Amino acid sequence: MLMLLRRFALIVFVAGGLLLPMVLTGCASETPAERAANVYASQELAAAPLHGNIPDYSLSPEDLAKSQHLSAVNETMHFVELAWGIVSLLLMLWLGVIAWMRDTAVKASRNRWAQGYLFLLLYLIAGFLLDLPLDLYGHHLSLQHGLSVQGWGSWFGDQAKAFALTWVIGGLLLMLLFWIIRKFSRSWWLVFWCASIPIVLFGIFAAPYVEPLFFHYEPLQKTDPVLVAQLERVVQKGHMNIPPDRMFLMKASAKLTTLNADVEGFGSSKRVVVWDTSIQKLTPDEIVFVFGHESGHYVLNHIVYGVLFTLLILLISMYLGYLFVQWALAKFGGRWGIPSQTDWAALAVLLLAFSIFGALLEPVENAFSRHDEHAADVYGEEAIHGLVADPQTTAVKAFDVLGKTSFADPNPSPFYEFWTYSHPSIGRRAAFGKAYNPWAPGMEPKYFKKP
Ligand SMILES: [Zn+2]
Repeated sequence: MLMLLRRFALIVFVAGGLLLPMVLTGCASETPAERAANVYASQELAAAPLHGNIPDYSLSPEDLAKSQHLSAVNETMHFVELAWGIVSLLLMLWLGVIAWMRDTAVKASRNRWAQGYLFLLLYLIAGFLLDLPLDLYGHHLSLQHGLSVQGWGSWFGDQAKAFALTWVIGGLLLMLLFWIIRKFSRSWWLVFWCASIPIVLFGIFAAPYVEPLFFHYEPLQKTDPVLVAQLERVVQKGHMNIPPDRMFLMKASAKLTTLNADVEGFGSSKRVVVWDTSIQKLTPDEIVFVFGHESGHYVLNHIVYGVLFTLLILLISMYLGYLFVQWALAKFGGRWGIPSQTDWAALAVLLLAFSIFGALLEPVENAFSRHDEHAADVYGEEAIHGLVADPQTTAVKAFDVLGKTSFADPNPSPFYEFWTYSHPSIGRRAAFGKAYNPWAPGMEPKYFKKP
């Protein structure tokens, strides 16, 4: 156990050493104009009541009550889901359910592929059923508050598609993992991590080809050529190479009421996606701002940094997962009916480790994401300077619509924001957007130098 702790300390030290410079460069590069607006936003939030309205983003009394209710429910649900993921897996190990799945798969066929896929199928079915009550409640809540308009039939259809996709692709990963575990009994965590690099890259490349399973897409040029021309001005300003035929309209309104726009994929699959809900609810200037933010992710290489960060997290998780599997099987293998790491049932032990580390690493991942999202906000506001009449007002209005369509909490609890928010809170973004003025005398823009 002491050995384990020492190794864990080493990993944390190395990871910290790699992550810290990333965080520090982020802080050090804060420009004076950016710092001034950040201070303004922090003061505005500090002066407002918790979960209450703030001057730059406020809801009507009814909507505020709704937002407070949603915040409370979501906060509880989030941590209940995390804990349930870990507890339900432990229960299945302890009660011998995982060992039974392995026995069923091994008895059914002598073929390794059939065994692997059958074991995974049983495991995924159990996971689906165990999570179902919370998932049902989550969708019910979205329907009740008008965040979703997707009927139950269509919702179950999407669940089925996602399940099939996880089974087919997860099965391939499972076969690869166990082949590597059998070949490299002590270094499989490193070998599998190396193998996962091209897989992660391919996943990002292929995402734009998978998403049409869930939403309908059409060329933006066809539906809104005026908007395409406006977006192209932002593209040219940022020296990006995204031609109009790589811009798509996603029919989100069939299922959702919330707004979004993003840049996905890379290489030949790279494309810009604007949700039709954004076009319905935002003015052209506001869409240009949202797009400016998205193009910021692209120009500032956030996809590349995101991949590097994901791989780093994966490396740490694989190594700790390897140590956890050795420790857990030595201690509980007999009790759980799992004799060795090459046994199919050992998958559940590795996934148990991942769910524990995942829960602990969540705030780290979100801090990284918030850092990028803030940078994209800065970029977006600078990118639309000169293209819209008033960048500050445009930003505040866009955040207002964005927040109101999802009843976003104007002033969430700092702990919950720190732990779970992938973006700074809408209120913080709106206040920052209002105060950010790098074109004032003595100030400099961060990404677009003054002419
Ligand atoms: Zn973003």
